Amino acid sequence: MTILVTGGAGYIGSHTCVELLQKGYEVIIADNFFNSSQDVPDRIAKISGRRPKVYELDVADGPTLERVFAENSIDAVIHFAGLKAVGESCQIPLRYYRNNLDSTLTLLETMEAHGCNKLVFSSSATVYGPKNESPYTEDMPTSATNPYGWTKVMIEQILRDYCAANKDFSAVLLRYFNPIGAHESGLLGDDPNGIPNNLMPYVARVAAGQLPKLTVFGDDYPTRDGTCLRDYLHVVDLAKGHISALEYAESHTGAEAFNLGTGDGVSVLELVNAFQKVNGVPVPYAIGGRREGDLAEVYADPTRAHEALRWTAEKTVDDMCRDAWHFICTRQAEG
Ligand code: NAD
Ligand code: UDP
Repeated sequence: MTILVTGGAGYIGSHTCVELLQKGYEVIIADNFFNSSQDVPDRIAKISGRRPKVYELDVADGPTLERVFAENSIDAVIHFAGLKAVGESCQIPLRYYRNNLDSTLTLLETMEAHGCNKLVFSSSATVYGPKNESPYTEDMPTSATNPYGWTKVMIEQILRDYCAANKDFSAVLLRYFNPIGAHESGLLGDDPNGIPNNLMPYVARVAAGQLPKLTVFGDDYPTRDGTCLRDYLHVVDLAKGHISALEYAESHTGAEAFNLGTGDGVSVLELVNAFQKVNGVPVPYAIGGRREGDLAEVYADPTRAHEALRWTAEKTVDDMCRDAWHFICTRQAEG
């Protein structure tokens, strides 16, 4: 089976390409490398022993995407390509709507023209919005509080409408919780440009001495230690969830959402303490004010993924901390 992986050079996409290649799938990456580096396909090849085919393109560029489908017999698509920074999406909303919606619409039109009718889409726990309470279940109403989140809500709706009109189409909407960690080889991981927004890459850079200290955003939430709870899952577990989703798409049609998370809420301080303990490195931190828009508790009810996809996150918070640290140390050693 040949799988087109849009955004396959990115953080989650690259780990998924490794899992696909190791399972024997043919893999084609389509990425504009806007938020990823050109050496990622080599790293994927080094780990998996097999080389993905790579097209450098913008998924919203219809004629170029058309060429990819004309040159290859594509059985299914995993669609990671998208802009993902919540704060930035509030500053440049049109860019986010244009990129995330156009790329999805162009992809669907091109898939339709070539009779390709299986899609796995990167959605997010952010679609649960501010009103639902954790643990989230897939049938809760969706909404968003920022343009990034709205692109996910809108794309889910587009996929539901498209499936209603095309009974042969299968769209698996994977709602990721908080993927962290890295490939155990140290060759792939989360390596954002500039100062990281997300907790784990920030913690790793503080531990590596690249940033002076972590600011914990608020310790006055109604949680067990006052800091926010998130459902952190290892990126390799998440990557494996995409294989399960592809297998599901083989035998189901319609649009269906699945939470990919562990079901456990872990606090900011618990994650920082685990990182220090597992890796034997200090992570200096100070308590700061709350970050606007943060919810106290965000964690999944992963029952539907357990039952229908036969997928369960297996790796522990300690695994996530160890692999994130190994990745940043490997990066530093590479210069
Ligand atoms: P990433 O930025 O590392 O990867 C996305 C990749 O897509 C990058 O390589 C980027 O260059 C590429 N890209 C973006 N727009 C493109 C376009 N128009 N054409 C071609 N390539 C394009 O992000 P990630 O963390 O791997 O996330 C992958 C997907 O998962 C995104 O859609 C993101 O919104 C979603 N998601 C991520 C998280 C998370 O915490 N990382 C959580 C929930 C959902
Ligand atoms: N966080 C923090 N300091 C940071 C970055 C994040 O205290 O420098 C907290 C943040 O308030 C949230 C948790 O860590 O409670 C996870 O944040 P992240 O941005 O990684 O994920 P999200 O909030 O988008 O789920």
